[in-house]
Amino acid sequence: MAAGSGKSSLLLEAFPESYPEAIMVGQGSIGISSRSKLATYMGIMDDIRSLLSKQTGRPAGLFSFNSLGACPICEGKGVTTPDVAFADPVTTTCEACGGTRYSDEALSYRYEDKNIVEILALTIDEAVNYFKLPKIIKRVNTLKDVGLGYLTLVQTTSSLSGGEVQRLKLASYLQKEGQIYVLDEPSVGLHAKDNGKLLDVFQTLVNRGNSVIIVEHNLDFIAASDWVIELGPGGGKRGGQIVFEGTPEEMVQAETVTAKWLKTGAAEDFRSTT
Ligand SMILES: [Zn+2]
Repeated sequence: MAAGSGKSSLLLEAFPESYPEAIMVGQGSIGISSRSKLATYMGIMDDIRSLLSKQTGRPAGLFSFNSLGACPICEGKGVTTPDVAFADPVTTTCEACGGTRYSDEALSYRYEDKNIVEILALTIDEAVNYFKLPKIIKRVNTLKDVGLGYLTLVQTTSSLSGGEVQRLKLASYLQKEGQIYVLDEPSVGLHAKDNGKLLDVFQTLVNRGNSVIIVEHNLDFIAASDWVIELGPGGGKRGGQIVFEGTPEEMVQAETVTAKWLKTGAAEDFRSTT
C-alpha cells in the first residue's frame, strides 16, 4: 500500500476491526521491562552466565550484578550517592567498578577471551561468530536477519528507536505460520543497505504461509510486493481513494504519483512529495 492519505486510518484502524486476528507489529513499547538488556529480552542471558560458569568452575551467580557478582562498593548499582548533609544527592559513577556494576572477582573470569562485561559489549554481528552454543547462535541470527546486527547485547530495549522495536518484535514472529502481519512504514530508521534483509524477512514469513501487509513509501518495498494499493490522489483531504491496485509490474504502466517514481526509481524525491 503506497502513498497518499487514508492509509493509516484504513490499515491501522479499520482493518483490525474487520480482521481481529491480524497481528499489528507497531513501533510502541515491547511490553516488558524497558530496562531489560537485549540479551535478557532474547532469553540468552542465563546461557551466557552458564557458559562462563562451565568454563571457570565458578557459580553462575558470580556473573550477575544482582547476585554474587555485584561490586561490593555500589552493590551492583554502578553509581554511588555520597551522603552529604544539606546537599541535593548527586550520583557519581562508582570508582571501584568504573560503572560496570561487577566485582573485580567477577571480571577476572573469562569465557574464551572475554569477561562478562566484554561479552555483553559485543554487537549482534560479533556475537554470531563468538558463541558456539546453537541456541544462542539461532537467537542472535534472528536479530541479524531483521537488520539489527549493529545493536549490542547490553543495550537496553528502552534505548531502541520505534523502527528497531518493530523489527525486534518481527524477529520473535519469524517461526510462526498462517498469520496476517500489519506494519506501518517498517523502512523508517532502517539503513538502506538493510532494506534487502528486511525484505528477505518478509519473504520468509510469506513463504511460511503468512500474509504481510505494510504501509510504505519506500520504493524498494513497493517494488518487492506481490500486490500494491495506492491511495490518493493527494494527501490529507485530497486523498482517501484507491487510485491504483495491482502488481508492481502493472503499476509501472499506470499513470499515478507512485507509478511515476517507481519508473524513475527516485526514492528520496518521492518521499518528500508525499
Ligand atoms: Zn561499583
